[in-house]
Amino acid sequence: MRPARALIDLQALRHNYQLARETTGAKALAVIKADAYGHGAVRCAQALEADADGFAVACIEEALELREAGIRAPILLLEGFFEASELPLIVKHDFWCVVHSLWQLDAIEQASIAKPLTVWLKLDSGMHRVGLHPADYNAGYQRLLNSGKVAHVVLMSHFARADELDCSRSDEQVAIFTTATRGINAPISLRNSPAVMGWPKIPSDWVRPGILLYGATPFDHPQSVAARLQPVMTLESKVICVRELPAGEPIGYGGGFVTDRAMRIGVVAMGYADGYPRQAPTGTPVFIDGQPSRLLGRVSMDMLCVDLTDVPHTGLGSTVELWGKNVLASDVAAHAGTIPYQIFCNLRRVPRLYCGA
Ligand SMILES: *Cc1c(COP(=O)(O)O)cnc(C)c1O
Repeated sequence: MRPARALIDLQALRHNYQLARETTGAKALAVIKADAYGHGAVRCAQALEADADGFAVACIEEALELREAGIRAPILLLEGFFEASELPLIVKHDFWCVVHSLWQLDAIEQASIAKPLTVWLKLDSGMHRVGLHPADYNAGYQRLLNSGKVAHVVLMSHFARADELDCSRSDEQVAIFTTATRGINAPISLRNSPAVMGWPKIPSDWVRPGILLYGATPFDHPQSVAARLQPVMTLESKVICVRELPAGEPIGYGGGFVTDRAMRIGVVAMGYADGYPRQAPTGTPVFIDGQPSRLLGRVSMDMLCVDLTDVPHTGLGSTVELWGKNVLASDVAAHAGTIPYQIFCNLRRVPRLYCGA
């Protein structure tokens, strides 16, 4: 069998979830949208269910997958419903529902709803993606209450730049939130992973950690909470072929790397069809049988090359960690000009093996 695989450490996932709660003293919705950022939503939800205050996903399709797998905890739909016709299913399965637009308010008012909803009413406090305008927010809240179709409301907003600790935009967003919600007495939810980790003064009865659950940092610099995270996914494969080459020999498509001395090259069963970023350049870190080394040349669909020249006792069959506990996914992402969120979500084709259940 092809040796490429993703090992998922569920004990590390639980550790990171507890860290989010401990750091904030708040209730925490574990954000497991997009198949738990590539880690497998059902398995991650099962591993967290005994501890978690609830889960958050992007849409009802993702929420139904969890209910069908037997997950009974609260599940928030982060974009609410896309069509009013989803409302009966939302009620039936007790999903919590973000309301981010006036058309969704209209739909709730017009729907016949068997059981009152839990709504997370989203404010656009300055990210300008979704959320009610500050001028509409208080009236929107009153409409929810007056509809008679809503039992609980949580006041929420989302940060655009919480990963930039020297940027004042998050404080500005909090100020806009505070003004727009003045006089409303309800729980609030503001903090995503970077705000959980780096903005201890920002209030939040509910936090919404995503990337930190998977042990990756949203920051591009060292950070104290980041240092306590445990990477959950290890993407690994094996060396399936070894080449001894003299100086001056090009490697892979485009000959993008040329040996600058006599070198030993390992070919690894891993490529961009598995989700390893094609943009990762020569020099991107890898770990081979417990020793650091680097990627060489262009990543192809099913294979990539690594440098074995200065890595003793390696060869055919050596285990290569592409990211995990030794090579941080955030580091690989930075080399490839992207973020760990994207490289996790891009994972495909490789089997996921779970431990620490
Ligand atoms: C995805 C998402 C989160 C989680 O973000 P992280 O940066 O991964 O912690 C939180 N809140 C909302 C509304 C989201 O869409």
